Amino acid sequence: MHTPPRIVVVGGGYAGVMAARAALERRAHVTLVDADGRHGFLPRLATVAAGVGPIGDADAPLADLLPGVTLVTELVEGIDHRARALATADGRGIEWDALVLAAGAQASAPPVPGLTDHAWTLRNPDDAKRLRELVPTAESLVIVGAGSTGTQLAGEAAAAHPHLRVHLLEMADRILPSLPVGMADRARDVLRDRRVRIRTGVSLERVGPEGADLDDGTTVPGLVVWTGGYASNGNALLPDAPTTDGRLVVDRCARVSGHDRVLAAGDIAAHRGPGGRVLPQTAQVAVRAGRLAGANAARIAEGVRPRAGRLRHIGWVLPLGDGQAVAQVGPVPLTDPLTGRLAPLLHDAIDVRHLLTVGGLPAAVRHHQDFVSLP
Ligand SMILES: Cc1cc2nc3c(=O)[nH]c(=O)nc-3n(C[C@H](O)[C@H](O)[C@H](O)COP(=O)(O)OP(=O)(O)OC[C@H]3O[C@@H](n4cnc5c(N)ncnc54)[C@H](O)[C@@H]3O)c2cc1C
Repeated sequence: MHTPPRIVVVGGGYAGVMAARAALERRAHVTLVDADGRHGFLPRLATVAAGVGPIGDADAPLADLLPGVTLVTELVEGIDHRARALATADGRGIEWDALVLAAGAQASAPPVPGLTDHAWTLRNPDDAKRLRELVPTAESLVIVGAGSTGTQLAGEAAAAHPHLRVHLLEMADRILPSLPVGMADRARDVLRDRRVRIRTGVSLERVGPEGADLDDGTTVPGLVVWTGGYASNGNALLPDAPTTDGRLVVDRCARVSGHDRVLAAGDIAAHRGPGGRVLPQTAQVAVRAGRLAGANAARIAEGVRPRAGRLRHIGWVLPLGDGQAVAQVGPVPLTDPLTGRLAPLLHDAIDVRHLLTVGGLPAAVRHHQDFVSLP
């Protein structure tokens, strides 16, 4: 009798659920191990943290999304690639014929005094739910790091709470330093209209219970949220594998360098796109990479050659609250006030499409009723 190959996926985020689904489609036996058993909708976290929309937009039980997959809710602590087994925090060993690492990234903090004790972060659904309780009663919100997470949070919070003084602080000389300059300029204009106080070229010296001290000698009082950095979970799981900026080096089949039966997808991996560029850590890349890794894990376990994938990053959509957003799709900027109105719809369409692919229509309707009724 044919025994289905055993595929184990670590992490139930965008890459992990797609990997599990792709392996299942090849009739593998799939086990997905996730630390909290929930799929986080990270692109929705700033909205949830600002108190806009239902709290259920933050995450959904993996069991709802992945029928047919064996789910294990445990933290993976180590991988023995020679024994082809992984160890979970409860001491369980789970064996595999091929493994997909999709454990994402986490907030990382530089050694600034008081930062880990007094600043909040916005990286996972629990962070968003905690901020949702704190933001409405705060007088001032001090967001440190004006990348896409910090800029989106500033826009959403200022739109939802007009009484709130929102500060957005950035070390570089402009907000959204890694996004196209036109998008950054338009986002800055939207935020200024909402009276967000933007300061660039400043860095954090210390964080205390009252607020943030900056290197120019000023103190900005308020609830401090650190959105300045993320670190991939690659090295923690596979310390001997080569990495680029902490992300596991993978080939075009999503195999981890030096590991024939270990694949990686999403934020944990350094995927390359056209021209060999390392792709940004986004949900759209994670979804495609997850699908590639899951299918290839099943092929490898079956003894079939894995296929090279062509991954790319199509563009950016950054919602700023109150129906406004900035976006760039390929070379086309959607940044003026009129086309900017299309951008939030695009952002929601991406999530709805993801839910439809992973969990079908019932999952999309159950978890994002507000998306389905968008104007
Ligand atoms: C606030 C915010 C807003 C964003 N907005 C956008 C956006 O608008 N558009 C976009 O394309 N991208 C956006 N991103 C980026 C995008 O969300 C990530 O690129 C994407 O989530 C990566 O998917 P992933 O599956 O690699 O990791 P994740 O989605 O982070 O999932 C990783 C999973 O692994 C689990 N895990 C971690 N360690 C372990 C372990 N040791 N054992 C077991 N389980 C473990 C976690 O619990 C989690 O469920 C945003 C990110 C953030 C934080």
